Amino acid sequence: MKKIETICVQGGYEPGNGEPRQLPIIQSTTFKYDTSEHMAKLFDLEESGYFYSRLQNPTNDLVAKKICQLEGGSAAMLTSSGQAANFFAVFNIATSGDHVVASSTIYGGTFNLFHVTMRKMGVDFTFVKPDCSEEELEAAFRPNTKAVFGETIANPAVVVFDIEKFANAAHRHGVPLIVDNTFATPINCRPIEWGADIVTHSTTKYMDGHGASLGGAIVDGGKFDWMAHADKFPGLTTPDDSYHGIVYAEKFGKEGAYITKATAQLMRDFGATQSPQNAFYLNLGLESLALRMKRHCENAQKIAEFLQGHKAVSWVTYCGLPGDKCYELGQKYLPNGSCGVLSFGVKGGRKAAEEFMKHLHIIAIETHVADARSCCLHPASATHRQMNDQELEAAGVKPELIRLSVGIENVDDLIADIKQALDILPQ
Ligand SMILES: *Cc1c(COP(=O)(O)O)cnc(C)c1O
Repeated sequence: MKKIETICVQGGYEPGNGEPRQLPIIQSTTFKYDTSEHMAKLFDLEESGYFYSRLQNPTNDLVAKKICQLEGGSAAMLTSSGQAANFFAVFNIATSGDHVVASSTIYGGTFNLFHVTMRKMGVDFTFVKPDCSEEELEAAFRPNTKAVFGETIANPAVVVFDIEKFANAAHRHGVPLIVDNTFATPINCRPIEWGADIVTHSTTKYMDGHGASLGGAIVDGGKFDWMAHADKFPGLTTPDDSYHGIVYAEKFGKEGAYITKATAQLMRDFGATQSPQNAFYLNLGLESLALRMKRHCENAQKIAEFLQGHKAVSWVTYCGLPGDKCYELGQKYLPNGSCGVLSFGVKGGRKAAEEFMKHLHIIAIETHVADARSCCLHPASATHRQMNDQELEAAGVKPELIRLSVGIENVDDLIADIKQALDILPQ
């Protein structure tokens, strides 16, 4: 297998003789065929091919293929956003009457999707702390549990998920582990190698890396044996009437069933398609992902150390800091670095946090994270404002928490910007 830096640049699209060197953008909604018979075979999933970009598009598929190779998976698809990726990843196997165990420390948007919107659709969730004991984790499972969900590095709490612990528990109960690997990216962690079954991404973040295009991805590790737990996953193991009685797990096997079903049913019905133009931008971003992640991590490490030494700062969370509560997990799962996102608290709480942010010049206030430009956010007054104090606490978000997304600028300039804004705060 090729090394990860090579896959970043050359994975997915492999042009033949005389073909364009750069990934072609197939900006077409539809595809032409000579006979109705051929088209019918595509509609019946008898043959693979393109007919309508709401379901599949060649540009998107080649970028999905690159992400699949990066994660070491068996099949992958792009979605219009990270939200769509996580929704599809769960809803593909858990529907009305089912239950999912999720880490409580996850992205606010995902928490809302699970806790509010998917509950309305009849899917129930139990949230457990990522550092819960084996017994607490065990107690969260029910007979109707269909999946376990967590984030490799949680946004914005930046705590590290113990993938093996959750994978083992999921597998004991005959269900897959879904891991949102947005912050670590496959450069720093490949969850499938640690036992995760399905990996999701908001490609909007580091993968695109330039704040240019919204997108998501789902990768199947291809190892989960749906047929061995056929009673739990009827959607994959019994005939799909909307496709003339196809049984996905039989026809496409462990490697292809999950992504084929998500494409054939969920993309067909919900249409959360990424535009081929956005997939092209995403692919450009992926080419430099390995280089950028290295720089993000180096800069964030230096800034975390600087913050730790400043009198106006009350605490810093970054798993690269010895003594951080996730340091050991970080060393295990993220030995080459975690990501550019860290969080810290300033003395003086919520007010001081707002004051600090007002005085930054290079680092901008944005809801966005994880791209080339440094930015910061006060989650309690922005992304997480729909949560009450108890839910904030469970999500690991303190009122004085500032989330800093360290970019790839010169670190001395970033530290100077942070220093002048901290120096005016109560020490
Ligand atoms: C941003 C983010 C999402 C949602 O992705 P969008 O592309 O904004 O829809 C999901 N999970 C994590 C960890 C994120 O950071």
